[in-house]
Amino acid sequence: MRVAIDTHPGGAAPNEDWAAGTPSLAVVLDGLSTAGLDTGCRHGVPWYVAHLGSRLVATLADPDRSLTDGLASALEQVAALHPECDLGNPGTPSATVAVLRQRDETLDHLVLADSPIVLERHDGLTVLTDLRVDEVLPELRAEVEQHETHTVEHQAALRRFVSAQRQTRNTPSGYWVAAASPEAAEHALVGSSSVKDVRAAAVLSDGVSRLVTEYAMATWSEVFAMLRKGGPRELIDTVRKVEATDPTGRRWPRYKSGDDATAVFCQW
Ligand SMILES: [Zn+2]
Repeated sequence: MRVAIDTHPGGAAPNEDWAAGTPSLAVVLDGLSTAGLDTGCRHGVPWYVAHLGSRLVATLADPDRSLTDGLASALEQVAALHPECDLGNPGTPSATVAVLRQRDETLDHLVLADSPIVLERHDGLTVLTDLRVDEVLPELRAEVEQHETHTVEHQAALRRFVSAQRQTRNTPSGYWVAAASPEAAEHALVGSSSVKDVRAAAVLSDGVSRLVTEYAMATWSEVFAMLRKGGPRELIDTVRKVEATDPTGRRWPRYKSGDDATAVFCQW
């Protein structure tokens, strides 16, 4: 597996996405926005994703370990790094997880929340994603989307939305993300494909996948064409150019003008 990576922050704040690639592994984590609310953790989201990601790479070095088991172990190890923080805080640092691993002739995938893995198969495209997060709190989400980004009303609506989201996060009636408990790993969507059926794969944060899913400014086939031509950098630059045409989120309502954007491109 040949892997190319790029990641780019959405604004002046530190990047809360994290990515890694090895000859057998591609990982993308997308830290969830805190919207300036209390997290109970003095380390912050960039610290959380860097430590979770590096432990995930280490636990999955053993090909006999399942992705679910590797994620549960990595979550446990990261929680043990900061027992002095309030890990029971509903705003404790959390992230989406997308992992693609090659094991001989098999490709295993794991997705938890909305960072998708797109497989370009010889017979078509498959999008592997977990959209349970989009199903909760539709009214509060709509309220955020009513306002242009950078307005006081938008910031206030976003804080209300994130506060309410935290109450449903990692509960049976809500949606699951990587946070402080290993239990979330059991709720990830997992599966396997045969390497010989796949030409290429893209592991993305939603800051990139929205070019297709929300902005509808490219198809997945066009995304793979961009990745082949200019690599992850060209794809991220394209997202930024599209967003620059709508800086206040009037055409495409969103939480921020530009979100942290990450692309990992795998080829065989
Ligand atoms: Zn902490």
